[in-house]
Amino acid sequence: MSKRETIAIDMDGVLANNMAHYLAYHFRETGIRITETEIQGKPEEQCFEDPDAVYRYLAMPDFFRTLPINPDAQEVVQRLNDHFNVYIVSAAMEFPWSLVEKYNWLAEHFPFISWQQIVFCGDKGIVKADYMIDDHCYNLQSFSGNSLLFNCYHNINETEFERLNSWKDAERYFFSKG
Ligand SMILES: [Mg+2]
Repeated sequence: MSKRETIAIDMDGVLANNMAHYLAYHFRETGIRITETEIQGKPEEQCFEDPDAVYRYLAMPDFFRTLPINPDAQEVVQRLNDHFNVYIVSAAMEFPWSLVEKYNWLAEHFPFISWQQIVFCGDKGIVKADYMIDDHCYNLQSFSGNSLLFNCYHNINETEFERLNSWKDAERYFFSKG
């Protein structure tokens, strides 16, 4: 029997829909409604007039605990988990207060992921796996395995890596091969 391959899966922008959360926080704070279409292709800090807005939202208690989940993420990650060694890899040390919230969020939405499969880290360059699914090119650039860019509003113009358009697309990628 061949060895199970490993997949490193990012949280923010991949399992979780950070963009929808930013827009909701921004609307609550300012009363200004910005649509998803308006921020396509923009880096996080350019989505709102106030360049500090995203960081301010990220720093709010419960931000990470209440993130909406991306469509089909639960079902597809569960299926991947049955056939691959799945690790959830998040550069959570950028926001140290997020650790417990992220852990509890995973426990709620991905209860089949054990604590041994969770890697909260700093620089993802240390991570070795067969596949990495991430929404930021800088994480994929230092990765030595198969780099997969998960479609996200800020990366729509990136062409450096193979793109997964959605979790359904990820399912096709991993299960329709060969
Ligand atoms: Mg991310």
